[in-house]
Amino acid sequence: MSRHRNVRGYNYDEDFEEDDLYGQSVEDDYCISPSTAAQFIYSRRDKPSAFAEPLQEEYAYEDAEEHANFTSNHQLAEVDQARLQSCLDHMKELLGDSVPEQVMVEAVLNSKFDVQKALDIVLTENSKQNMKTKNEEAVTTVKASKGKTRDSQSTRIESEVVPKVTKMTVSGKKRSTGFEVPCVGAEENGQYAIISQKGPSSGDASITSGAIEMVSKSALPSQTTLMPEEQSTAPTPIKKSSKTKQQIDVKAELEKRQGGKQLLNLVVIGHVDAGKSTLMGHLLYLLGNVNKRTMHKYEQESKKAGKASFAYAWVLDETGEERERGVTMDVGMTKFETKTKVITLMDAPGHKDFIPNMITGAAKADVAILVVDASRGEFEAGFETGGQTREHGLLVRSLGVTQLSVAVNKMDQVNWQQERFQEITSKLGQFLRQAGFKESDVAYIPTSGLGGENLVTRCQTSELTEWYKGKCLLEQIDSFKPPQRSVDKPFRLCVSDVFKDQGSGFCVTGKIEAGYVKVGDRLLAMPPNETCTAKGIALHDEPVDWAAAGDHVSLTLTGMDIIKINVGCVFCDLKEPIKVCTRFRARVLIFNIDLPITKGFPVLLHYQTVSEPATIRRLLSVLHKSTGEVTKKKPKLLTKGQNALIELQTQRPIALELYKDFKELGRFMLRYSGSTIAAGVITEVWCPL
Ligand code: GDP
Repeated sequence: MSRHRNVRGYNYDEDFEEDDLYGQSVEDDYCISPSTAAQFIYSRRDKPSAFAEPLQEEYAYEDAEEHANFTSNHQLAEVDQARLQSCLDHMKELLGDSVPEQVMVEAVLNSKFDVQKALDIVLTENSKQNMKTKNEEAVTTVKASKGKTRDSQSTRIESEVVPKVTKMTVSGKKRSTGFEVPCVGAEENGQYAIISQKGPSSGDASITSGAIEMVSKSALPSQTTLMPEEQSTAPTPIKKSSKTKQQIDVKAELEKRQGGKQLLNLVVIGHVDAGKSTLMGHLLYLLGNVNKRTMHKYEQESKKAGKASFAYAWVLDETGEERERGVTMDVGMTKFETKTKVITLMDAPGHKDFIPNMITGAAKADVAILVVDASRGEFEAGFETGGQTREHGLLVRSLGVTQLSVAVNKMDQVNWQQERFQEITSKLGQFLRQAGFKESDVAYIPTSGLGGENLVTRCQTSELTEWYKGKCLLEQIDSFKPPQRSVDKPFRLCVSDVFKDQGSGFCVTGKIEAGYVKVGDRLLAMPPNETCTAKGIALHDEPVDWAAAGDHVSLTLTGMDIIKINVGCVFCDLKEPIKVCTRFRARVLIFNIDLPITKGFPVLLHYQTVSEPATIRRLLSVLHKSTGEVTKKKPKLLTKGQNALIELQTQRPIALELYKDFKELGRFMLRYSGSTIAAGVITEVWCPL
């Protein structure tokens, strides 16, 4: 869900203007205050000793040619360490602490770093049938709005829910995280082309105040000069479509299609138990999207399960496990309308363990609602160290969301006190400003998700009306500025789900990030660099002839084997395909970390719907936070709060774009051991020829 979208949605020039805002907040105003520190802290202390020490290396810089020796024996051990660590991170995401780390390490080594095999070994040996089933579901279940997934026969819970809740697949979890694709390949022989931002005016990315945006100064090192192979800046498409793409006036068609209503992707974020699902479930109920009978059924069932207070949350928390645990795990998606907008609602999980899912959700959002619990002690728990309020806020801003509504929820618990509301909004306001949100783009609404007050109509409770004359939540959602869609750019759709439909072909779901697609269009999938035909398109479960940027669609595809497509693949325009690489450079903002980042550092790269093991291959330079000028070349380590230019190496090819070309597709997050350690924008890509 989009990140930037708002950004994306806007005139890109406006984005530059907004950067001024972030530009101001440089040094002292830096987004992550010392008190926020522990939030992004990761610790190597818990890791096996091989990873406990900072890498003992010469930090001498490698030249580009040295890359060819990347797989020398000396380096292999290091790579294997990174692979092991990445596998462990992935397994821990699924298994938590339920399996001793030593067992996981052995399984990874026995399976030769194939994380899927390692998981199988661990789960089988553990003979915890329940856990196995659940976790396999977490890995493979595709909770698609229709059809069965390729990987799973799991059935959706019977539901009379009127709103259709679609679950997004956890990024990277469905996609196997093995290492079957050898790294670098052509790069090892020097056969690659560098695609980069060119020249000072091309807009180097600057990261300040928790957000990553563009500034006009370039800080790119001299290596950015394109190599002779530069003409082949993108993998060669297999063949061009014989049919020329029939032009349609997408913008005009879009206006007609939506009856004048704008499409908006909205993600709901916040600390676990802040009341996100209850708030949005109740909003849907009050809007008539859940019928009374269904709601009654939820009330009865939740009462029976001893969780009566969760009845509204059940509208969105659809799976048995979510209900059992009382937490949202996946990203629930549903649709509702306001006066001027059609909203695709994404309910992101608040629990720390599910932040990767939340990133996937936030990556597709245009705007966000941050829910905080007003109860005494609870707001503080969510806001302070270890709470998700700050982490979510920073994540969505880093992923490009610029407009935010804060629902100060559970106000019934504090008798709708104005003082408590003000205390919370002033604390949050300060943080959100530092995180890069403009004051004018943030609104605060007192709500009670459980009681339903101030959701779709203005609250009549006298304790509130005495001091609050502002909008209710629905009015606030309606007044979000609509994002501009990149419909004029080449087609891009990131796959968030793959499943077999009845009939020939198969289906993928995902959000169109740029361009548009029509029934009958030939498309290219990257990777694996193969073509297919879009036989059908469904938008909100209705068949349509075309769909455009901003739409969450399901495509029925023919002429390609389903086995070749994974979550994370990008379907794109045949003539202007997306870049695919295993190595790229990026400008990053380092979040609060307790130990410095060094060369060789293993990370999980969260990009769009993918979560992929990667290694920090080089530390190129430290950059000034606002101007982007190089303040130090070839640093030996990076510490919290720094802006830096780094080079990343993924194990397998990944489809991505430069930030300057597609803001929507140029951002990523880095996580390590369950914490987000950096946000970045892609500045250069090495494409194997
Ligand atoms: P989530 O984890 O953020 O999605 O939180 P849930 O929606 O699952 O709610 C967590 C708990 O808070 C449930 O027991 C809800 O009934 C309760 N809750 C949610 N909203 C309110 C509210 O406005 N007032 C009160 N008193 N309780 C609420």
